[in-house]
Amino acid sequence: MEIKPLKNKVFLASPCMHGDELKYIKEAYDTNWMTTAGTNINAIEEEIGKSFGAEFVVGLSAGTAALHMAMKLAGERLYGRPSVGHGALEGRYVFCSDMTFDATVNPVTYEGGIPILIDTEYDTWNMDPIALKKAFELYPEVRLVVVAHLYGVPGKIDEIRAICKEHDALIIEDAAEAMNATYNGKYCGTFGDYGVISFNGNKLITGSSGGAILLHTREDSDKVRKWSTQAREAAHWYQHEEIGYNYRMSNVIAGVIRGQLPYLQEHTDRKKAIYYRYKEAFEKANLPVKMNPFEEGKAVPNYWLSCMIIERQAMCKQVRSEKEALYITEPGKTCPTEILEKMASINAEGRPIWKPMHMQPIYRLNPFITRDGDGRAKTNAYIEGGVNDIGMDIFERGLCLPSDINMKPEEQDVVIEAIKSCFE
Ligand SMILES: *Cc1c(COP(=O)(O)O)cnc(C)c1O
Repeated sequence: MEIKPLKNKVFLASPCMHGDELKYIKEAYDTNWMTTAGTNINAIEEEIGKSFGAEFVVGLSAGTAALHMAMKLAGERLYGRPSVGHGALEGRYVFCSDMTFDATVNPVTYEGGIPILIDTEYDTWNMDPIALKKAFELYPEVRLVVVAHLYGVPGKIDEIRAICKEHDALIIEDAAEAMNATYNGKYCGTFGDYGVISFNGNKLITGSSGGAILLHTREDSDKVRKWSTQAREAAHWYQHEEIGYNYRMSNVIAGVIRGQLPYLQEHTDRKKAIYYRYKEAFEKANLPVKMNPFEEGKAVPNYWLSCMIIERQAMCKQVRSEKEALYITEPGKTCPTEILEKMASINAEGRPIWKPMHMQPIYRLNPFITRDGDGRAKTNAYIEGGVNDIGMDIFERGLCLPSDINMKPEEQDVVIEAIKSCFE
């Protein structure tokens, strides 16, 4: 069935401004605090701390910068301060979420660490605690775990925490996509020893860019404030005993975030409505698909991206090389490639699931651990009757749907009809 393209493009997730942002940007301008200090930064650090129950918050230039700072804190706490020119995690293995954005994992390598990639589970599409347990059996010396909450859905953080406690390992929690999501009533980003959130342009609320690190001690907070502003010592001149970075948040960006923060719950509610509109429509049409799942009763997602996964028996043939994809369409069957092409043809934007890090050329040689043990020793395909490489299975069958809070219900209806047409 031909579907008429949408007049205005429907994005995956675009910024949603409310007006107050301009007031705070202007405040920065009028008071001439056009720098990496000022009332906007102070205000958002305090507000984020209060709203999420984080003891200390430091505003930074990006979530990735916050992750880098977290790696340094963890590395120095575990292994001591490195000499100049060496990373705080140099030569050390670090367990990391595998099916995630590369910004979760790359900062490990900034500090010289070696990511060991941990497979995904089907219940929340996040790090599999069973695979993590297996990883500790194989690499008992590991003391740091980097765990992401994807698409706004909390991972099994209680189980992961218990395993880490048993092995005396620290946790860095990448909650860049999961701001305002909770697990057993506690906010994502506050479970780990170090938490990270992001204000990138497509996140739930945005500063156009920006990020923050959530911390439990003043000592850590002071360290990040120092490192992120070129690591100046308390001296009359620029005195340096440590390598510094220029990672601090701009007071103008903080103004945008300050204007957005009051709308965090409204944005969450609108994302939730989009998720359930898809879910109900797919159920009503009896489509052989499921929405991205979460643990009901425990997890309250922020529904940042609505995703779906196609039942195995409804998948047409689809082959992906490193950079291209081909599929053979069949009646009653489809695949993410066909649906994504369909989305583009109606002027809507979808996205493949994050391609697992163990399948990325940059991490191709890094260990990859599944429930069964060494995932590299086995084929990367799904094995009928067995569990192997869940991340690649979700990558092959899943996709992110247009989840823009600026999308109108009528526009979402067109998107839904287009998806349905792929199954005809
Ligand atoms: C967006 C994102 C980041 C990075 O945040 P930036 O602010 O863009 O640097 C890290 N991890 C995940 C999972 C993300 O989605």
